[in-house]
Amino acid sequence: MMRWLSPTGSAALLVSVPAILASMTTAPTLDAAPTQEPPLVAVRAGTLIDGTGREPAKNMTIVIEGERIRSVEPGGAIPRGARVIDLTGYTVLPGFIDAHTHLTGRTIGEGENWENAAVRDLPQEDAIRGVRNARLTLEAGFTSVRNVGAEDFSDVALRNMIHAGVVLGPRMLVSGHSLGITGGHCDTNAYRPGLFEPDIARGIADGADPVRAAVRYQIKYGADVIKTCATGGVLSEGDPVGVQQYTEEELRIMVEEATKLERRVAAHAHGTEGIKAAVRAGVTSIEHGSMLDDEAIALMKEHGTYLVPTLMAGEAVERQGREGILKGLRREKALTIAPIARRSFRKAVESGVKIALGSDAGVFQHGTQGREFLLMVENGMTPMQAILAGTREAAALLGMEHDVGTVEPGKYADLVAVRGDPLRDIAILQRVEFVMKSGVVVKARGLEQEGAARAR
Ligand SMILES: [Zn+2]
Repeated sequence: MMRWLSPTGSAALLVSVPAILASMTTAPTLDAAPTQEPPLVAVRAGTLIDGTGREPAKNMTIVIEGERIRSVEPGGAIPRGARVIDLTGYTVLPGFIDAHTHLTGRTIGEGENWENAAVRDLPQEDAIRGVRNARLTLEAGFTSVRNVGAEDFSDVALRNMIHAGVVLGPRMLVSGHSLGITGGHCDTNAYRPGLFEPDIARGIADGADPVRAAVRYQIKYGADVIKTCATGGVLSEGDPVGVQQYTEEELRIMVEEATKLERRVAAHAHGTEGIKAAVRAGVTSIEHGSMLDDEAIALMKEHGTYLVPTLMAGEAVERQGREGILKGLRREKALTIAPIARRSFRKAVESGVKIALGSDAGVFQHGTQGREFLLMVENGMTPMQAILAGTREAAALLGMEHDVGTVEPGKYADLVAVRGDPLRDIAILQRVEFVMKSGVVVKARGLEQEGAARAR
């Protein structure tokens, strides 16, 4: 569906990413193919958790042709000419998916005067930070992300440069600017008039026609998905965290316009009434979902709405509040909402709401979001449920279930490997030792010699 998944674009990636890897010291590279035939790679997996929900399987061989998986079979039949990657000592899983990142721009707390980044930082600085963050994210095993909110289309630039093979990073769905009301969570507040006047180009839109125009504007400049702020938030100045911001009618119009243009809507929503309005309006996911009541949960189940819980963000702002990185109202909001959000998540898990992993990386250090799996398990999910939230379920939320999220024939060869059994110790998903994206090895700690020796 998405432009950047087109076969022609993919071919460009195949040529250029190995070229970049050749200049890296840590990752093995694919040999240049003597003919036009795509390279064959056979990955021997000691244990495979394939992301479909099936039980783990022992001694599987995953055959990869070019950038996609050709077969997944028990035993060790290696096709002629295939390069072998030996992961028999590892558990192999699908590449992880983070459905809520902010790869470009500053990480909260990063640098002096981070709160004034909006008036200090160049758009180019945002994008260049994104290059670093994209690589950290990929090396943590996250091979796809949905980036929900960025300034100046820095996210579009990053997505395009990753896709063109210029920089290494996860495949990205991006939103451009988040859409919000004047003075709301998605606006830039607490400056004197004249500095940040409401502007649909920056995503600030009130009422039916401006909301439609803002959706169209983000899409014109490259948005794959629409992000909106249905309620107040923690890190904004001047708005209570729980209040509803957009009306249900405005949200309905936004969803209608986005749907017409084949885009989905992700709604940031902490407060109960805003959550319900967004769900009724037809958004695809509720981000954070901090204050769920029984009716909100029933509505989400009825509409098939995903919850993207961002437990790491709750944990991070709570810590930042205690440490004084957040001050005043932000601190107050952080300390209030975090424990409530954890209780809401538990309720959602118990009630069987659809849940996709999303961390809100950017509120904390990029590349550490493997911890989200652990927090999901600590707050009520089984390890397998958490793994599925970060693979199959997140793929479905992104509308990419035909391309990513499971290790099955036809999907992109996005694989990660860890030592040990994540079903016993989910924390090991924070220590990913091998990452492949689209058939190209992008991280292989200590595996180069092993893999190379077997291949000869
Ligand atoms: Zn966010």
